[in-house]
Amino acid sequence: MPGETSAQGLEIPDAALGRAWAARRPRTTGLHVDTAACGRTSRAVRARIARHQAAEARRGGYVAEADIAEELSEARDRLGALLGFAADDVAFTESASTALAQLLAAWPVEAGAVVWAPRSDWGPSLAALADRGLRVELLEVDSRGVLDVDALRARLRRERPALVHVTAALSHRAVLQPVAECVAACAPYEVPVVLDTAQALGQFPLPAGAAAAYGTGRKFLCGPRGVGYLAVADPWQAKLVPRAPALAARAWPGEPRPVRRLESREAFVAGRAGLAVALREFHELGPERIMHRLDGVGRAMRAALADVAGWSAGDPASAPGAIVALRPDEHVDPVEVRARLLRHGVVCSVAGPERAPQHMTGPLLRFSPHVDVHSGDLVRLAGLLARCSGPVR
Ligand SMILES: *Cc1c(COP(=O)(O)O)cnc(C)c1O
Repeated sequence: MPGETSAQGLEIPDAALGRAWAARRPRTTGLHVDTAACGRTSRAVRARIARHQAAEARRGGYVAEADIAEELSEARDRLGALLGFAADDVAFTESASTALAQLLAAWPVEAGAVVWAPRSDWGPSLAALADRGLRVELLEVDSRGVLDVDALRARLRRERPALVHVTAALSHRAVLQPVAECVAACAPYEVPVVLDTAQALGQFPLPAGAAAAYGTGRKFLCGPRGVGYLAVADPWQAKLVPRAPALAARAWPGEPRPVRRLESREAFVAGRAGLAVALREFHELGPERIMHRLDGVGRAMRAALADVAGWSAGDPASAPGAIVALRPDEHVDPVEVRARLLRHGVVCSVAGPERAPQHMTGPLLRFSPHVDVHSGDLVRLAGLLARCSGPVR
């Protein structure tokens, strides 16, 4: 497929995909490079949400929900396929954080048990594990935050945690953890691996074999805000101890699977229908094509921003995926630069050290494009970043 050439001569593959993806969304005058916070929804997603809300007003919310049971089940199926789980293993939640909270509340583990997580793991998840009364012990990572699987294997020969929690793709820099190797290392000891896939879903393929996976549809899948997911593998579902309200339990006599008892009954159902459409569009355009172009856009953007004064690269240009992190020089305030960029229509984020408090030493400026970003945007962004990084005039 014909690509395009960025200013540095780096090929971004499949320009046609970028155009097809952009054609499904309203034009932006600025530059949205903040998918890792919240992707841009398509017109079809928003139309589906509006249509379901109209059906709720016409038919009543609960009847309207029952009417689209098949569509919701197709969405669970597609989520399961992307996560390496079956449709029956998947529940909807409101966000990645609520999914983890629900999972931990029901997970068969005693307070005081030891759990392992990479030192670079998502800070709020480490806090949630500790809040549940679990003792978090950190797994060694390299300077970029990549899990040291050899060290994990060696440690497993000596001791066993109650579970291993891994953030499959980091949010603050371009790191994809060696998830398959980690799952394979834990399997012989029957140590369950719980994956945070909030950034990984839609950006990277994921291997099967985790005990549970959770995340949100609003990032690289570009679903609406307020809809997340939780998947629990079959053998672990029977062991869950759901703290569902009695009403929910009684309302579902023929309840499909235990994981569904962790799904909130009262929810943004129109948003779930919207996520179903986002998943359908993701499959229509092709997960492999999307992931391949995201990778290319990420590389080209890292190359394009490599020499902007005031910044150094957070990751090598060849790092995986579409997250681009820049470390500010001492005199540069990333919060101020982000605000200036926003005034020029550039939407990005500052990733503070709270995202990985055991590993990050300072804030990073984070760009997270989707497949619509093209080489002309990269040249423009490099110029704007240079302008916005100078002293206040
Ligand atoms: C965004 C994010 C979360 C939190 O997701 P919410 O839906 O906002 O709760 C968790 N983990 C990672 C890695 C994230 O990037």
